Amino acid sequence: MRCAVSLLLLLSLLSLSHGYREPGDEADWCDYEQCKLPDCRCSGTDIPGGLPVHQIPQIVMVSFDDAVQDRWKADVENVLSDHKNPNGCPVGATFFVSHEYTSYQLVEEYYSKGYEIASHSISHYSYQDWWKNASEDEWHDEIIGMQTIIHEFANIPTDDIQGMRAPLLQTGGDTTYK
Ligand SMILES: [Zn+2]
Repeated sequence: MRCAVSLLLLLSLLSLSHGYREPGDEADWCDYEQCKLPDCRCSGTDIPGGLPVHQIPQIVMVSFDDAVQDRWKADVENVLSDHKNPNGCPVGATFFVSHEYTSYQLVEEYYSKGYEIASHSISHYSYQDWWKNASEDEWHDEIIGMQTIIHEFANIPTDDIQGMRAPLLQTGGDTTYK
């Protein structure tokens, strides 16, 4: 046991001396004099500029992933109707839609109510490595293909389906952006 602890300590020291960090390693102490906006910001819960908390707007983004289904309609509407913006306006939301099990009638209904509709791929493959290694053509087929399906089946103008979210939040780096 003592050997295992010593080996772990040695490996930790070696990794620190080479600037390599393991997940969970503590970050270096941030120097507030060196690290200044807009190029750098020390992480923390302090408000930039030292503004008082009552002057800071709280922005909450509401979004839903995957198939748009009638079975979730009541839950979705509860979330959206239970809250209002401080000015009394209803809250908005974005639906990142994947193909299988989606009710396009409901997608059209959400769109007509003013919610954003976005692409979340056709297949929604559940293999993270597939998305990580997908080619530009595969990304295009999945994301733009889903945009086309939404346009055709939910009768939403293509230009109004602008956003996308990678399934499993797994991007392929630059390939995805291209
Ligand atoms: Zn998803």
